[in-house]
Amino acid sequence: MKYQTKLTIDGALVDGDRPLEVIDPATGKVFVTVGSASPQQAEKAVQAAKRAQPNWEALGRTARASMLKEIADRIEARADDFTDVMVAEQGKPRREAAEETAYSVAFIRYFASLDLPNRLLSVPTSGRVELRHRPLGVVVGISPWNFPLLIPAAKIAPALLTGNTMVVKPAPTTPILALMLGEIAAAILPPGVLNVITDKNDLGDLLTSHPEVAKVTFTGSTATGRKIMANAAPTLKRLTLELGGNDAAIVLDDVDVEKTAERIFAAAFFNTGQACLAIKRVYVPDAIYDEFSEAVARHAREAIVGPGSSPGTRIGPLQNRQQFEKAQYYLDVARRDGRIIPGGEVRHGDGYFIAPTVVRDIDDTSQLVSQEQFSPILPIVRVADGEDALRRANASDFGLGGSVWSGDATRARALAGRMQSGTVWVNQHLNFGPEIPLAGAKQSGIGVEWAELGLAEFCQINVINQVA
Ligand code: NAD
Repeated sequence: MKYQTKLTIDGALVDGDRPLEVIDPATGKVFVTVGSASPQQAEKAVQAAKRAQPNWEALGRTARASMLKEIADRIEARADDFTDVMVAEQGKPRREAAEETAYSVAFIRYFASLDLPNRLLSVPTSGRVELRHRPLGVVVGISPWNFPLLIPAAKIAPALLTGNTMVVKPAPTTPILALMLGEIAAAILPPGVLNVITDKNDLGDLLTSHPEVAKVTFTGSTATGRKIMANAAPTLKRLTLELGGNDAAIVLDDVDVEKTAERIFAAAFFNTGQACLAIKRVYVPDAIYDEFSEAVARHAREAIVGPGSSPGTRIGPLQNRQQFEKAQYYLDVARRDGRIIPGGEVRHGDGYFIAPTVVRDIDDTSQLVSQEQFSPILPIVRVADGEDALRRANASDFGLGGSVWSGDATRARALAGRMQSGTVWVNQHLNFGPEIPLAGAKQSGIGVEWAELGLAEFCQINVINQVA
């Protein structure tokens, strides 16, 4: 396959000033070298977006929506290419990659179908008060490496639909899919409307402190989110921050153990545990603790670990060396603080593989439970009951997602309403879609993405208040 290596700046595909090697996580070897932007190229991208914005806004919603639909159609027409690149650069199993490609198309189409029409407000005055939405200007979109197509797509569509222009920067270990998006956009959109640049993890500060940038939409770690807030402060940029999570699953004593264990395994080890909304800790009552832990362990033993390109692979490699090393640190923590039932093995030499690992007899004072491990390692903590589990689940600085599992949905929903998380699922975990808003509580984020609430975050409210 011929990989896209060029940046998109001001409607043109250009070579990056600096080479960037892309590693296949299943082999640990470089498979392509793409371009990455110099600070001067990043500056050009911001200026191009600034120049393009007034005409893009003037074009109107209908024309913008139809171009977004065309982008979605072209991704769909090349879905196999996108999926192959995702397997190569991100490492996930092909079936999961194909799902991410299809979801990305669905997100773009969903936003292209939305509108924020002007609204006459009913207020007790004799005049006329109209609520309108205006674009903010230049939006910077920065994404992580775990969903390298879906996350940029879900930022680009609402930002552009509402009349903003953009500079998008993917994570340096997964640059190619975003470059492909840039290539498609360059053939459809007016120059400068969508600029895609890559970096060596070193252009984030320039972009998020740039005085011409009105908003930053960021998905990534809480640590980077804090830096972005500080960068945004001098010019009071609008921010949407989707940050880290440490999702807890609370299991009640009346569950169907086999069925629940299977679903919890799937939601914990999805994308090799590298999902912000994956289950990262499980609280299980004493009465069913042994049976439940063993049921999860059985799934871990049976899961096939291998390259995403191999049919049958359930657990792919960790995405990059840094993440691989981080996971090994947490394996040491698991050995020290708990009892590994299956897993714990690291495959050295041919990529970043770790066997799915289940850890029991561990307390929530362990870093494996209290931190975001983002790895295929699942701690199961013994609790007295649902109230005990809820107290422990809420004792976290994170609040992205969570779930409650019970044979009695009413009982589960009562507990779910008291979980301090932006999303709480009942008898499932990780079900999401473009029409469902996503927002992190506490240090898991600021603002809302997706759905109509997410669309509104790309707009400035404009109230026209007229005397009678
Ligand atoms: P990261 O914060 O290290 O990097 C994310 C992006 O930020 C990358 O593109 C990186 O180059 C860029 N960046 C680095 N320094 C920057 C700076 N000073 N200013 C601006 N941008 C900068 O995160 P990661 O390791 O790539 O991704 C994993 C993290 O992302 C996890 O914490 C995970 O929970 C989180 N995540 C959250 C969500 C969500 O929706 N809440 C979704 C996916 C991932």
